[in-house]
Amino acid sequence: MAGETIHGHRFFIGFGGKGANQCVQAARMGAKTAMVCKVGRDVFGNYYIQNFKNNGISTGNSQTVLHWENAIVIVAGANMLLGQEELQRALTAIVNAKVLVCQMARENHVKTIFNPAPAIADLCSDFYKASDVFCCNESEAELLTGLSVTSVEDASQVGLELLNKGCGSVIVTLGPQGCVVCQSTNMAPKHIPTTAVTAADATGAGDSFIGALAFYMAHYPTMPLEEMARRANLVAAMSVQTVGTQTSFPFQKDLPTELF
Ligand code: ADP
Repeated sequence: MAGETIHGHRFFIGFGGKGANQCVQAARMGAKTAMVCKVGRDVFGNYYIQNFKNNGISTGNSQTVLHWENAIVIVAGANMLLGQEELQRALTAIVNAKVLVCQMARENHVKTIFNPAPAIADLCSDFYKASDVFCCNESEAELLTGLSVTSVEDASQVGLELLNKGCGSVIVTLGPQGCVVCQSTNMAPKHIPTTAVTAADATGAGDSFIGALAFYMAHYPTMPLEEMARRANLVAAMSVQTVGTQTSFPFQKDLPTELF
C-alpha cells in the first residue's frame, strides 16, 4: 500500500543504463571500447565513470555535468544533456571505431547497431535508415509496429516490417527462444534458436546480447550476421544465469573458446 513501510531483506546497487551495459559486455569480451555519455557531477557520477575504467572502457568522451538539484534527474538521464557539441568532440573516437552502438540517437564506414530503447511508437524514420543492425526485443518490436510479438512467426513478420522502414538488418530477440534475424525482404527471416536456460535474473539479457553482437561486428566483420546472433545468444544465456545486470555479464575467460 502507498505509504506503507516495507521491510526489505537485501539491498543492492548496480550500475546500469542500457548503453553502459552494452559497452561493458563488449569490453568484457575483449573489444576496445569507448563510452560517450554525460553523468552527474557527484559521487554517483564518479563511481559510474570509475566502473567504466574498471572494465577497461575509455572515458575520454564522457563528461560530468553541473551538480543536479534533484538526484532523481540523474536517474532520468544526464545523457539528455548530450548535444551536438559533445558529439562533435567525440567524433574522432566515433569515426575511428568499427562499430557504434546507439540507443535513442553511418558514415565513415562505422557500422551502427541501433537499439530502440526505451521504445517510442512514432520513431523518426531516420533512425531506421541509419541502422546497419536494428536490434529490439519483443515489447519494443510491438510498440514500433503495433503487432503483438510472442512467437518466432510474429518476430519474423515484425522483422520484415522494420526492414521495410529502411534498416540494413533487423534482429528481434525472443528471450529463451533466441532471436530472429532478417537481412533482406527477399530472404526468409531466420530463427536462431538457443538452448533455453533457467533464468536466475533475466535483467539486462538484451544488453548482454547487443554488447556481444557489437564485439563480433568489430572483431569478425566478415562473419555472417546469423552466426554472430547465434554466438550472442550464448553469451546472453550465460548472463541470465547469475543475479544482477553488469555483475552477471561474462568475461572472455568465462566463455567457451569456440565463441572467439
Ligand atoms: P531483453 O532483455 O531486452 O528483454 P530478451 O529477453 O529477448 O531481451 O533476451 C535477449 C537474449 O538473451 C535472447 O535473445 C537470448 O539470446 C538470451 N536469453 C534471454 N533469456 C534466456 C533464457 N532463459 N535462456 C537462454 N537464453 C536467454
